[in-house]
Amino acid sequence: MKYIDEFQDPELARRLLDDIRATVTRPWALMEVCGGQTHSIIRHGIDQLLPDEVELIHGPGCPVCVTPLEVIDKALEIASRPEVIFCSFGDMLRVPGTGRDLFQVRGEGGDVRVVYSPLDALRIAQRNPDREVVFFGIGFETTAPPNAMTVHQARKLGIGNFSMLVSHVRVPPAIEAIMSSPSCRVQGFLAAGHVCSVMGVGEYPELAERFRVPIVVTGFEPLDILEGVRRAVRQLERGEHTVDNAYARAVRPEGNPAARAMLEDVFEVTDRAWRGIGVIPDSGWRLSSKYRDHDAEHRFAVGGIRTVEPAECRSGEVLQGLLKPHECEAFGTLCTPRTPLGATMVSSEGACAAYYLYRRLDLPAAKAREASPVV
Ligand code: SF4
Repeated sequence: MKYIDEFQDPELARRLLDDIRATVTRPWALMEVCGGQTHSIIRHGIDQLLPDEVELIHGPGCPVCVTPLEVIDKALEIASRPEVIFCSFGDMLRVPGTGRDLFQVRGEGGDVRVVYSPLDALRIAQRNPDREVVFFGIGFETTAPPNAMTVHQARKLGIGNFSMLVSHVRVPPAIEAIMSSPSCRVQGFLAAGHVCSVMGVGEYPELAERFRVPIVVTGFEPLDILEGVRRAVRQLERGEHTVDNAYARAVRPEGNPAARAMLEDVFEVTDRAWRGIGVIPDSGWRLSSKYRDHDAEHRFAVGGIRTVEPAECRSGEVLQGLLKPHECEAFGTLCTPRTPLGATMVSSEGACAAYYLYRRLDLPAAKAREASPVV
Protein backbone atom coordinates (compact mmCIF):
# COMPACT_ATOMS: atom_id res chain seq x y z
CA MET A 1 0.00 0.00 0.00
CA LYS A 2 1.38 3.39 -1.01
CA TYR A 3 2.87 5.44 1.85
CA ILE A 4 2.81 2.35 4.08
CA ASP A 5 4.92 -0.38 2.48
CA GLU A 6 7.83 1.86 1.53
CA PHE A 7 8.05 3.06 5.13
CA GLN A 8 8.29 -0.50 6.46
CA ASP A 9 11.14 -1.66 4.22
CA PRO A 10 13.39 -4.01 6.30
CA GLU A 11 16.53 -3.21 4.32
CA LEU A 12 16.14 0.53 4.82
CA ALA A 13 15.37 -0.08 8.50
CA ARG A 14 18.66 -2.00 8.82
CA ARG A 15 20.55 0.87 7.23
CA LEU A 16 19.00 3.42 9.55
CA LEU A 17 19.79 1.24 12.54
CA ASP A 18 23.39 0.86 11.35
CA ASP A 19 23.65 4.63 11.05
CA ILE A 20 22.28 5.13 14.58
CA ARG A 21 24.70 2.51 15.97
CA ALA A 22 27.60 4.18 14.21
CA THR A 23 26.61 7.60 15.56
CA VAL A 24 25.82 6.93 19.19
CA THR A 25 28.64 7.07 21.73
CA ARG A 26 26.81 7.48 25.03
CA PRO A 27 23.32 7.03 26.58
CA TRP A 28 20.46 9.23 25.39
CA ALA A 29 16.78 9.30 26.41
CA LEU A 30 14.23 10.38 23.82
CA MET A 31 10.52 10.85 24.39
CA GLU A 32 7.75 10.36 21.85
CA VAL A 33 4.63 12.37 22.71
CA CYS A 34 2.14 10.43 20.63
CA GLY A 35 0.24 7.24 21.40
CA GLY A 36 0.29 6.26 17.73
CA GLN A 37 4.07 6.41 17.74
CA THR A 38 4.20 4.47 21.01
CA HIS A 39 2.16 1.67 19.46
CA SER A 40 4.28 1.61 16.34
CA ILE A 41 7.45 1.44 18.46
CA ILE A 42 6.20 -1.45 20.59
CA ARG A 43 4.45 -3.29 17.77
CA HIS A 44 7.57 -3.34 15.61
CA GLY A 45 9.98 -3.79 18.50
CA ILE A 46 11.83 -0.62 17.51
CA ASP A 47 12.93 0.18 21.07
CA GLN A 48 14.53 -3.28 21.31
CA LEU A 49 16.28 -2.95 17.97
CA LEU A 50 17.97 0.30 18.92
CA PRO A 51 21.41 0.22 20.50
CA ASP A 52 21.33 -0.03 24.29
CA GLU A 53 22.45 3.58 24.57
CA VAL A 54 19.18 4.88 23.06
CA GLU A 55 16.15 4.70 25.36
CA LEU A 56 12.66 5.61 24.17
CA ILE A 57 10.37 7.03 26.86
CA HIS A 58 6.64 6.92 26.17
CA GLY A 59 5.24 10.33 27.02
CA PRO A 60 1.71 11.67 27.57
CA GLY A 61 0.67 11.33 23.94
CA CYS A 62 -2.51 9.29 24.12
CA PRO A 63 -5.58 11.55 24.15
CA VAL A 64 -7.79 9.07 25.98
CA CYS A 65 -5.11 8.43 28.61
CA VAL A 66 -4.57 12.06 29.54
CA THR A 67 -8.25 12.96 29.80
CA PRO A 68 -8.65 13.61 33.53
CA LEU A 69 -10.85 11.48 35.73
CA GLU A 70 -13.06 14.42 36.63
CA VAL A 71 -13.92 14.97 32.95
CA ILE A 72 -14.89 11.29 32.67
CA ASP A 73 -17.09 11.74 35.74
CA LYS A 74 -18.68 14.80 34.17
CA ALA A 75 -19.39 12.75 31.03
CA LEU A 76 -20.97 10.00 33.16
CA GLU A 77 -23.15 12.53 34.97
CA ILE A 78 -24.35 14.16 31.75
CA ALA A 79 -24.88 10.83 29.96
CA SER A 80 -27.07 9.59 32.83
CA ARG A 81 -29.67 12.29 32.30
CA PRO A 82 -32.88 11.09 30.61
CA GLU A 83 -33.09 14.03 28.21
CA VAL A 84 -29.55 13.47 26.89
CA ILE A 85 -28.20 11.55 23.89
CA PHE A 86 -24.49 11.29 24.69
CA CYS A 87 -22.24 10.75 21.65
CA SER A 88 -18.61 9.67 21.80
CA PHE A 89 -15.90 7.88 19.89
CA GLY A 90 -15.89 4.24 20.95
CA ASP A 91 -12.57 4.30 22.79
CA MET A 92 -14.00 6.51 25.56
CA LEU A 93 -16.78 4.09 26.55
CA ARG A 94 -14.60 1.77 28.63
CA VAL A 95 -12.45 4.44 30.26
CA PRO A 96 -13.09 4.04 33.97
CA GLY A 97 -14.48 6.99 35.85
CA THR A 98 -15.10 6.89 39.56
CA GLY A 99 -16.89 3.54 39.96
CA ARG A 100 -18.28 3.06 36.44
CA ASP A 101 -17.84 3.83 32.75
CA LEU A 102 -20.03 4.95 29.85
CA PHE A 103 -20.82 1.32 28.93
CA GLN A 104 -22.35 0.88 32.36
CA VAL A 105 -24.34 4.08 31.98
CA ARG A 106 -25.68 2.64 28.72
CA GLY A 107 -26.49 -0.64 30.46
CA GLU A 108 -28.41 1.30 33.07
CA GLY A 109 -30.59 2.91 30.37
CA GLY A 110 -28.56 5.94 29.38
CA ASP A 111 -28.68 6.86 25.69
CA VAL A 112 -24.96 6.58 24.91
CA ARG A 113 -24.08 6.29 21.22
CA VAL A 114 -20.81 5.62 19.41
CA VAL A 115 -20.20 7.96 16.49
CA TYR A 116 -17.38 8.16 13.98
CA SER A 117 -17.38 11.92 13.54
CA PRO A 118 -18.59 14.90 15.58
CA LEU A 119 -20.74 15.76 12.56
CA ASP A 120 -22.63 12.48 13.17
CA ALA A 121 -23.57 13.87 16.58
CA LEU A 122 -24.70 17.12 14.99
CA ARG A 123 -26.95 15.18 12.60
CA ILE A 124 -28.42 13.27 15.54
CA ALA A 125 -29.20 16.63 17.16
CA GLN A 126 -30.95 17.81 14.01
CA ARG A 127 -33.07 14.64 13.92
CA ASN A 128 -33.93 14.80 17.63
CA PRO A 129 -34.91 18.40 18.35
CA ASP A 130 -36.66 17.41 21.58
CA ARG A 131 -33.49 15.86 23.06
CA GLU A 132 -30.19 17.32 24.26
CA VAL A 133 -27.31 15.91 22.19
CA VAL A 134 -23.82 16.10 23.69
CA PHE A 135 -20.56 15.18 21.95
CA PHE A 136 -17.51 14.22 24.00
CA GLY A 137 -14.74 16.35 22.48
CA ILE A 138 -11.35 15.22 23.68
CA GLY A 139 -7.87 14.96 22.24
CA PHE A 140 -4.88 16.91 21.01
CA GLU A 141 -4.48 19.48 18.26
CA THR A 142 -5.40 16.73 15.79
CA THR A 143 -9.01 16.14 16.84
CA ALA A 144 -9.65 19.73 17.89
CA PRO A 145 -10.19 21.22 14.38
CA PRO A 146 -13.14 18.96 13.38
CA ASN A 147 -14.66 19.46 16.81
CA ALA A 148 -14.26 23.22 16.47
CA MET A 149 -15.81 23.09 13.01
CA THR A 150 -18.79 21.13 14.36
CA VAL A 151 -19.51 23.69 17.08
CA HIS A 152 -19.11 26.44 14.49
CA GLN A 153 -21.66 24.64 12.28
CA ALA A 154 -24.08 24.15 15.18
CA ARG A 155 -24.04 27.88 15.86
CA LYS A 156 -24.33 28.78 12.20
CA LEU A 157 -27.28 26.42 11.65
CA GLY A 158 -28.93 27.38 14.92
CA ILE A 159 -28.90 23.83 16.31
CA GLY A 160 -29.49 24.83 19.92
CA ASN A 161 -29.86 21.30 21.32
CA PHE A 162 -26.23 20.42 20.47
CA SER A 163 -23.40 20.94 22.94
CA MET A 164 -19.90 19.61 23.46
CA LEU A 165 -18.07 18.46 26.58
CA VAL A 166 -14.61 19.74 25.74
CA SER A 167 -11.32 18.48 27.15
CA HIS A 168 -8.75 19.35 24.51
CA VAL A 169 -5.05 19.44 25.28
CA ARG A 170 -2.01 21.03 23.61
CA VAL A 171 1.39 19.40 23.21
CA PRO A 172 3.87 22.30 23.63
CA PRO A 173 2.87 23.16 27.23
CA ALA A 174 3.19 19.45 28.09
CA ILE A 175 6.75 19.43 26.73
CA GLU A 176 7.46 22.51 28.84
CA ALA A 177 6.03 20.81 31.95
CA ILE A 178 8.02 17.62 31.33
CA MET A 179 11.25 19.52 30.85
CA SER A 180 10.60 21.67 33.94
CA SER A 181 10.11 18.65 36.21
CA PRO A 182 13.03 18.02 38.59
CA SER A 183 12.82 14.29 37.77
CA CYS A 184 12.96 14.82 34.00
CA ARG A 185 15.27 12.41 32.14
CA VAL A 186 14.31 13.44 28.62
CA GLN A 187 17.09 14.75 26.38
CA GLY A 188 15.28 14.93 23.06
CA PHE A 189 11.77 14.73 21.63
CA LEU A 190 10.12 13.02 18.69
CA ALA A 191 7.30 15.50 18.07
CA ALA A 192 4.02 14.08 16.75
CA GLY A 193 3.80 14.56 13.00
CA HIS A 194 0.01 14.79 12.83
CA VAL A 195 -0.09 17.51 15.51
CA CYS A 196 2.47 19.49 13.52
CA SER A 197 0.53 18.98 10.30
CA VAL A 198 -2.19 21.10 11.93
CA MET A 199 -0.19 23.52 14.08
CA GLY A 200 3.07 23.75 12.14
CA VAL A 201 6.39 23.87 13.95
CA GLY A 202 6.39 27.50 15.10
CA GLU A 203 5.80 26.69 18.79
CA TYR A 204 8.89 24.48 19.09
CA PRO A 205 12.06 26.55 18.43
CA GLU A 206 11.66 28.51 21.68
CA LEU A 207 11.27 25.24 23.65
CA ALA A 208 14.25 23.63 21.93
CA GLU A 209 16.39 26.67 22.69
CA ARG A 210 15.23 27.19 26.29
CA PHE A 211 15.63 23.54 27.33
CA ARG A 212 18.46 22.80 24.94
CA VAL A 213 16.68 19.73 23.52
CA PRO A 214 16.46 18.61 19.91
CA ILE A 215 12.86 18.31 18.72
CA VAL A 216 12.40 16.19 15.62
CA VAL A 217 8.99 16.17 13.94
CA THR A 218 8.41 12.47 13.28
CA GLY A 219 5.88 10.29 11.48
CA PHE A 220 4.39 6.95 12.46
CA GLU A 221 5.72 4.15 10.29
CA PRO A 222 8.83 2.23 11.42
CA LEU A 223 11.15 4.07 9.04
CA ASP A 224 9.70 7.41 10.11
CA ILE A 225 10.45 6.63 13.73
CA LEU A 226 13.94 5.32 13.03
CA GLU A 227 14.67 8.43 10.98
CA GLY A 228 13.37 10.64 13.82
CA VAL A 229 15.60 8.80 16.28
CA ARG A 230 18.57 9.00 13.91
CA ARG A 231 18.22 12.78 13.53
CA ALA A 232 17.71 13.34 17.27
CA VAL A 233 20.73 11.20 18.20
CA ARG A 234 22.85 12.96 15.60
CA GLN A 235 21.95 16.34 17.12
CA LEU A 236 22.62 15.13 20.65
CA GLU A 237 26.01 13.72 19.71
CA ARG A 238 26.92 17.05 18.09
CA GLY A 239 25.64 19.12 21.03
CA GLU A 240 22.89 20.68 18.90
CA HIS A 241 19.31 21.43 19.85
CA THR A 242 17.22 22.56 16.90
CA VAL A 243 13.79 21.76 15.48
CA ASP A 244 14.07 19.36 12.55
CA ASN A 245 11.19 18.26 10.34
CA ALA A 246 11.61 14.57 9.47
CA TYR A 247 7.97 14.30 8.31
CA ALA A 248 8.06 16.83 5.48
CA ARG A 249 5.69 14.76 3.33
CA ALA A 250 2.88 15.81 5.68
CA VAL A 251 4.10 18.78 7.74
CA ARG A 252 4.53 22.32 6.42
CA PRO A 253 6.20 24.87 8.71
CA GLU A 254 3.00 26.87 9.00
CA GLY A 255 0.76 23.81 9.49
CA ASN A 256 -2.80 24.06 8.23
CA PRO A 257 -3.86 27.74 8.29
CA ALA A 258 -7.58 27.00 7.79
CA ALA A 259 -7.63 24.57 10.73
CA ARG A 260 -5.68 26.97 12.93
CA ALA A 261 -8.09 29.80 12.10
CA MET A 262 -11.03 27.59 13.07
CA LEU A 263 -9.35 26.70 16.36
CA GLU A 264 -8.70 30.35 17.16
CA ASP A 265 -12.31 31.24 16.44
CA VAL A 266 -13.98 28.53 18.50
CA PHE A 267 -11.57 27.79 21.35
CA GLU A 268 -9.58 29.76 23.88
CA VAL A 269 -6.51 28.58 25.75
CA THR A 270 -7.06 27.47 29.33
CA ASP A 271 -5.28 25.60 32.11
CA ARG A 272 -6.04 21.89 31.82
CA ALA A 273 -5.57 18.91 34.13
CA TRP A 274 -3.78 15.90 32.59
CA ARG A 275 -4.67 12.52 34.06
CA GLY A 276 -1.99 11.36 36.46
CA ILE A 277 0.04 14.53 35.98
CA GLY A 278 -2.12 17.37 37.27
CA VAL A 279 -2.83 20.85 36.00
CA ILE A 280 -0.52 22.22 33.32
CA PRO A 281 -0.94 25.97 32.72
CA ASP A 282 -2.30 26.95 29.30
CA SER A 283 -2.23 23.32 28.18
CA GLY A 284 -5.81 23.06 26.97
CA TRP A 285 -8.62 24.58 25.01
CA ARG A 286 -12.18 25.32 26.05
CA LEU A 287 -14.99 26.85 24.06
CA SER A 288 -14.63 30.61 23.82
CA SER A 289 -17.33 32.88 25.25
CA LYS A 290 -18.78 33.33 21.75
CA TYR A 291 -19.70 29.62 21.77
CA ARG A 292 -20.52 29.28 25.48
CA ASP A 293 -24.13 28.29 24.65
CA HIS A 294 -22.76 25.05 23.19
CA ASP A 295 -20.57 24.24 26.21
CA ALA A 296 -22.00 21.11 27.87
CA GLU A 297 -20.11 21.74 31.09
CA HIS A 298 -21.85 25.09 31.36
CA ARG A 299 -25.23 23.85 30.13
CA PHE A 300 -25.43 20.92 32.56
CA ALA A 301 -23.70 22.70 35.45
CA VAL A 302 -21.18 19.91 36.08
CA GLY A 303 -18.22 22.23 36.58
CA GLY A 304 -18.14 21.50 40.31
CA ILE A 305 -17.38 17.75 40.03
CA ARG A 306 -14.02 16.91 41.66
CA THR A 307 -12.39 13.47 41.83
CA VAL A 308 -9.45 11.60 43.30
CA GLU A 309 -7.31 9.31 41.13
CA PRO A 310 -7.09 5.62 42.28
CA ALA A 311 -3.88 5.22 44.28
CA GLU A 312 -2.93 1.82 42.81
CA CYS A 313 -2.73 3.13 39.23
CA ARG A 314 0.67 4.57 38.37
CA SER A 315 -0.28 5.88 34.93
CA GLY A 316 0.91 9.34 35.94
CA GLU A 317 4.45 7.98 36.25
CA VAL A 318 4.02 6.05 33.00
CA LEU A 319 2.83 9.18 31.20
CA GLN A 320 5.83 11.15 32.45
CA GLY A 321 8.28 8.46 31.41
CA LEU A 322 9.28 7.66 34.99
CA LEU A 323 7.99 4.07 34.83
CA LYS A 324 7.62 1.44 32.13
CA PRO A 325 4.13 -0.11 32.09
CA HIS A 326 5.31 -3.62 33.03
CA GLU A 327 7.05 -2.16 36.08
CA CYS A 328 3.64 -1.28 37.58
CA GLU A 329 2.68 -3.90 40.21
CA ALA A 330 -0.87 -4.14 38.81
CA PHE A 331 0.20 -4.68 35.18
CA GLY A 332 -1.29 -7.88 33.77
CA THR A 333 -2.72 -8.97 37.12
CA LEU A 334 -5.17 -6.52 38.66
CA CYS A 335 -5.01 -4.38 35.55
CA THR A 336 -5.65 -5.81 32.08
CA PRO A 337 -7.54 -4.44 29.05
CA ARG A 338 -10.61 -6.33 30.36
CA THR A 339 -10.24 -4.94 33.86
CA PRO A 340 -8.43 -1.63 33.39
CA LEU A 341 -7.52 0.40 36.43
CA GLY A 342 -6.25 3.32 34.42
CA ALA A 343 -6.82 4.89 31.04
CA THR A 344 -3.38 3.88 29.75
CA MET A 345 -4.63 0.26 29.79
CA VAL A 346 -7.99 1.07 28.20
CA SER A 347 -7.05 3.11 25.24
CA SER A 348 -5.82 1.42 22.09
CA GLU A 349 -3.08 4.07 22.04
CA GLY A 350 -2.16 3.72 25.73
CA ALA A 351 1.34 2.61 26.66
CA CYS A 352 0.09 -0.02 29.15
CA ALA A 353 -2.27 -1.50 26.54
CA ALA A 354 0.57 -1.57 23.99
CA TYR A 355 2.86 -3.46 26.39
CA TYR A 356 0.05 -5.90 27.20
CA LEU A 357 -1.07 -6.38 23.59
CA TYR A 358 2.44 -7.03 22.28
CA ARG A 359 3.43 -9.15 25.29
CA ARG A 360 6.17 -6.73 26.31
CA LEU A 361 7.15 -8.49 29.52
CA ASP A 362 10.89 -7.91 29.53
CA LEU A 363 11.81 -9.97 26.48
CA PRO A 364 15.58 -10.36 26.21
CA ALA A 365 16.87 -8.01 23.53
CA ALA A 366 18.28 -10.75 21.26
CA LYS A 367 15.00 -12.67 21.30
CA ALA A 368 13.07 -9.51 20.60
CA ARG A 369 15.26 -8.84 17.56
CA GLU A 370 14.41 -12.28 16.20
CA ALA A 371 10.70 -11.68 16.77
CA SER A 372 10.57 -8.23 15.20
CA PRO A 373 8.60 -7.98 11.95
CA VAL A 374 10.77 -5.04 10.84
CA VAL A 375 14.28 -6.44 10.85
S1 SF4 B 1 -0.76 -1.14 34.31
FE1 SF4 B 1 -2.83 -0.39 34.88
S2 SF4 B 1 -2.65 0.26 37.01
FE2 SF4 B 1 -0.56 0.14 36.17
S3 SF4 B 1 -0.14 2.21 35.39
FE3 SF4 B 1 -0.95 1.03 33.68
S4 SF4 B 1 -3.15 1.50 33.72
FE4 SF4 B 1 -2.36 2.10 35.74
